[in-house]
Amino acid sequence: MLRPVLLSAAVLLSLSAAAADPTFTVGTARAERGHTATGFIEVPAGVDAATSIPVAVVHGARPGPVLAIVSGAHGTEYASIIAIEKLVSRLDPAQISGTVVLVPLVNVQSFLQKVPHVNPVDGKSMNRFYPGKQDGTQTERASWLITKQVVERCDYLIDYHGGDLDENLRPYSYWSRTGNQKQDAITHDMVLAFGLDHIIIVADRPADPNASRYLDSTASTRGKPAIAVEAGHAGTVETDDVEALTNGTLNVMRYLKMLPGEASAIEHPVWIAKINPMVSDKDGIFIPRSSAARMWSRA
Ligand SMILES: [Zn+2]
Repeated sequence: MLRPVLLSAAVLLSLSAAAADPTFTVGTARAERGHTATGFIEVPAGVDAATSIPVAVVHGARPGPVLAIVSGAHGTEYASIIAIEKLVSRLDPAQISGTVVLVPLVNVQSFLQKVPHVNPVDGKSMNRFYPGKQDGTQTERASWLITKQVVERCDYLIDYHGGDLDENLRPYSYWSRTGNQKQDAITHDMVLAFGLDHIIIVADRPADPNASRYLDSTASTRGKPAIAVEAGHAGTVETDDVEALTNGTLNVMRYLKMLPGEASAIEHPVWIAKINPMVSDKDGIFIPRSSAARMWSRA
């Protein structure tokens, strides 16, 4: 249940200088103030093939923070990809203070070839090789460009995921504690504003910005508040999952004062501090005895 509140700690971090510019460019997407532009982050060929990662820039009519929203590191987590596609058309730059950088599909070949979990070009998960390498394989080169062009230029980041083709999942978010109290207070508010009613507390993420592995850790180790959210499962695109992601993002934007209106916050979420993976020692078929026995998993 959501209740209207005025969340504490408006925007405490300094805004990036780029947000005040009349144009904002990511890859080939160059947006004038008050407009939306689409284009690609071009990943040049190296030890393997080139790839083009779609990107949209919604450059709000007024200056403000830069929010990055990324999905499709795992290209068959469809609900999260569709949610960003919908946001690109739903976000009205005339209403926005600040700039939104939207990357709906990082792992294009996973999507095209319907391969879960990894980039079929190099067999690597596209959420485990950050901050990436300019001369690495395709996943590493793409991660390096996303670090440079998206993470380093944003003030806040939300990474979307969901159950992959072979995963069941109920919606939840991750709150990563970094030990930086100011930053952790902001991400705490961000997960509450996002509104998913189960929140996993993570305290073991990398602290080294040069070995950040995950996209959200790449942002948080660079001092940028970041959360990861999950909705969708098993190749489906259900309206509830897509709307949980889009509405959660719009509410975080209200919290960040990028959109007008009061932000609400989820009341009494379930905080999960410890995860116990259960692995069967036998091959077979998992048949839950109750409808509540939904698996939690993350690729
Ligand atoms: Zn994922």
